[in-house]
Amino acid sequence: MSNVKKVAVLPGDGIGPEIIAEAIKVLGVVSKKKGVQFEFTEGLIGGAAIDATGGPFPDETKELVQSSDAVLLGAVGGPRWENLDYSIRPERALLGLRAILGAFANLRPAKIYDALADASTLKREVIEGIDIMVVRELTGGIYFGQPKGVETLPGGGKKGFNTLTYTTPEIERIARVAFEVAGKRGKKVCSVDKANVLECTELWREVVTNVHKDYSHIELSHMYVDNAAMQLIRYPAQFDVIVTTNMFGDILSDEASMLTGSIGMLPSASIGGEIGIFEPIHGSAPDIAGQGKANPIATIMSAAMMVKYAFGMDDVYDDIDSAIVRILDKGYRTPDIMQEGSKSAGCKEMGDLIVAELENS
Ligand code: NAD
Repeated sequence: MSNVKKVAVLPGDGIGPEIIAEAIKVLGVVSKKKGVQFEFTEGLIGGAAIDATGGPFPDETKELVQSSDAVLLGAVGGPRWENLDYSIRPERALLGLRAILGAFANLRPAKIYDALADASTLKREVIEGIDIMVVRELTGGIYFGQPKGVETLPGGGKKGFNTLTYTTPEIERIARVAFEVAGKRGKKVCSVDKANVLECTELWREVVTNVHKDYSHIELSHMYVDNAAMQLIRYPAQFDVIVTTNMFGDILSDEASMLTGSIGMLPSASIGGEIGIFEPIHGSAPDIAGQGKANPIATIMSAAMMVKYAFGMDDVYDDIDSAIVRILDKGYRTPDIMQEGSKSAGCKEMGDLIVAELENS
């Protein structure tokens, strides 16, 4: 990779452009302080792309992302495009993007900021200190397995069916991602399956156990998915990295993220191919779009994940994270995380505060 980091910037719809602007400002400080050069090129995606070109993921954007080192994405979708056929809805662009970039590993951190611990629906003592990373397999499993469909039965009525499949290489590569990620964190992986019922995940357990032989410095445990769902609520601090299948990961990553109390704080990364995608977990929030109220922290942390996982700058990730912690500790809050006695900040102000904190660190 050359010294210049080429970043495809896809703001998308709704609050997308507002939150992306703040993340770019933060990366500007990183550039100044660390001497890294970013080359940002904007592309159209989602509803904005439909309006301009007729489709949610135009060829020009495909070419842009494929010639970049990383993709920073805002969010797509909104009521304006809800009546379109599924095949050309804004959200289709996300599937297309992941597919062409071969992003098979979805990383979703769920970390509690001490200043916000009271925003969770769980008690402070249960969630205090949690810092979980869910590594979800993203391109295989029951969402893609064949055969699938709904058939009419000869005697009347219908049968719906989907197929859960995983091959050894698919499990090996996601397990490696999980062990590598754990190596940079708390050095523990919990692999979640349903090996007592589903043969496919019996294979999952076997393969993860085999891959673990290359990572003996990481602690590996296995858990059935029903127990994992309970443990996430009962005692979430026991987890470091959770690795699991596409469908279990879909559910558990949403559950884990809700422990933290705010959707506006949570970033994600989809990696595994040569080019990673970094985006907040939330959508385009059409209800607050254009009002300067959006919380940009999820997107700023997505940019932080980009510098860590795409460009290997772990220290920059830590610097951005600490700047956010300090701003929250100083009592600044966007409306979604507002608490009594806190100081109110809009989207741009929150971005400015984090920029200033980072500049002075
Ligand atoms: P949403 O995540 O956009 O919003 C849910 C609620 O959270 C809203 O009240 C919203 O105001 C709030 N919220 C979300 N992000 C916020 C932020 N950064 N700061 C403050 N508040 C925030 O989910 P939704 O309303 O179900 O979906 C809206 C649109 O987004 C739909 O078209 C949906 O398909 C799309 N969507 C896109 C993505 C994506 O681009 N990855 C993900 C989910 C939903």
